[in-house]
Amino acid sequence: MKTIGLLGGMSWESTLTYYRRINELVRQRLGGLHSARIVLNSVDFADIEELQRCGQWDAAGSLLAAAALTLEAAGADFLLLCTNTMHKVAPAIEAAVSIPLLHIAEPTAAAIRQADLSTVGLLGTRFTMEQDFYRRRLEAHHGIQVVVPDEDDRERVHRVIYDELCRGVVSEASRNAYRQVIAALAERGAQGVILGCTEIALLISPADAAVPLFDTTELHAEGAVDLALNGR
Ligand code: GLU
Repeated sequence: MKTIGLLGGMSWESTLTYYRRINELVRQRLGGLHSARIVLNSVDFADIEELQRCGQWDAAGSLLAAAALTLEAAGADFLLLCTNTMHKVAPAIEAAVSIPLLHIAEPTAAAIRQADLSTVGLLGTRFTMEQDFYRRRLEAHHGIQVVVPDEDDRERVHRVIYDELCRGVVSEASRNAYRQVIAALAERGAQGVILGCTEIALLISPADAAVPLFDTTELHAEGAVDLALNGR
């Protein structure tokens, strides 16, 4: 079994989910007392959030590249960056280490293709919904059309992530707001919706939507276990 390097803490609320799901999946597949080989570097999210807000992406990339190097030195065979947003700086991380990074959009795209869908909605931070680092990968590499919420809904979705979910707050009002945003995306042609922020599944489950949901945390964790156990 390979050792998984988790670059986490963004936020720790979702890193907990990664840790639990990866271990559950290894136990399901290998049985007995088996658990995953994991090394974790969990950063201070306040530092990351400030750099995001100030647009200092190069500094954020350097900070995460340094964290990734500690995981490589600790014996990680490959890396998981436990956030969608910070994949904006994935190239800086990949350039710093000599082990592979399993990009979160890859298992997500594979699941969408497997479901035979061509147009999906995308929920995430404003950075993920509005910039092209994430959408372009889905569109250009995988031929998947991406629809994002309108301006007001993007702001609402973004605020719930930073003001609530990353602080461990799960509210019924926000769940209802997200349900409406998902329904609006489906009305505009989304055949499914990507939960493109690793905390959203703390709020929303398949029962909240009439279309299939693609939970990036779950898909990323499954992809990591496939890679750790089967080398693919
Ligand atoms: N975990 C979130 C994501 O998947 C947001 C936190 C962050 O900005 O990294 O994008």
